[in-house]
Amino acid sequence: MNKMIDLRSCSIKELEDLSIELGDKKFRGKQIFSWIYKGIEDIDDMKNISKGLKNQLKQVSYIKNMDILKVLKSKLDGTRKYLLILKDGNIIESVLMKYKHGNTICVSTQVGCRMGCTFCASTIDGVVRNLTCGEIIGQVLEVQKDIGERISNVVLMGSGEPLDNYGQVIKFLSIINDSLGLNIGMRNITLSTCGIVPKLIDLAEENIQITLAISLHAPNDELRNKIMPVNKVYNIEKLLETCKNYTKKTNRRITFEYSLIRGVNDKKEHAIELAQRLKGMLCHVNLIPLNEVEERSLKGSARETAYDFQKILKQNGIDATIRRELGGDIEAACGQLRKSFIEKKKIPNIKPQN
Ligand code: SAH
Repeated sequence: MNKMIDLRSCSIKELEDLSIELGDKKFRGKQIFSWIYKGIEDIDDMKNISKGLKNQLKQVSYIKNMDILKVLKSKLDGTRKYLLILKDGNIIESVLMKYKHGNTICVSTQVGCRMGCTFCASTIDGVVRNLTCGEIIGQVLEVQKDIGERISNVVLMGSGEPLDNYGQVIKFLSIINDSLGLNIGMRNITLSTCGIVPKLIDLAEENIQITLAISLHAPNDELRNKIMPVNKVYNIEKLLETCKNYTKKTNRRITFEYSLIRGVNDKKEHAIELAQRLKGMLCHVNLIPLNEVEERSLKGSARETAYDFQKILKQNGIDATIRRELGGDIEAACGQLRKSFIEKKKIPNIKPQN
């Protein structure tokens, strides 16, 4: 039996080809595409499509590719954390944050993660599988429907490493950016990566106007090797060189993410060393005290330490902000909610296939 097609994973071109294959006109592809992004979940709701084509579509494809399992709403700031269940039973999480400038969703790009950062909950059990582009888009559509408001900004900062799922992530960006899709401007999209250098080089070649965030978290290789295994493959020098070339190509300012871990990377000398390394780059540092993860022994730095760290960076000519922590009362750290849910409910996490 042929596999059913996930319509949320299809580009306009693929839907045009499908329409022709099903014996209809090419232009139906665009119509089907725009229905999907109006948020319908049932093929029967495609009003300008003939009954015949709808019946054919139903035989080979579907729209809804996940269900909301649970929503946690923060009483502090309106942040909502979603647990979503995919068709194969895997569970992923997304977060909705309400800002003055609009609704922002943080999406996952993989089930789990294989990057092994020592402070992160997403990577504890490794990666299960990549998400398809339709499953990344599904998160935006489901949350948008749940809140009944448009989502204007997307950050790829949920579970998973976006550049470890490069093809699907690039397709996702182009579909949500499309004016017939979700029409989300590239400048309203942030992609965060731990720094897979060859893929960063490819990303620069795409020459798109997204904001690139690099999870740096340490000013030197000795320390970064200890907390981020990816650094043993692509060290800080290679990473920063690639970032400089990225900016040359795209003219975009890069954000460096720096989670402050108590007694590990938050000392005065770390701030000075970080400022020296970033000197002259078109960049900005985002500081955030570590979100404590139950399974990890690491602690977040105190607020005052974060302010001191920021002050040193600024004194040394590096622009820095302290990120506001949202959803502090709803297990906000990356991968935390999914992990605790799977364990408490004893839902077997589906194992990776070799
Ligand atoms: N894999 C990508 C994106 C997912 S993680 C990346 O590494 O950038 C999103 C951000 O949250 C990264 O900067 C990551 O380092 C950070 N992060 C993960 N766990 C965290 C925690 N417990 N506290 C604070 N930041 C954390």
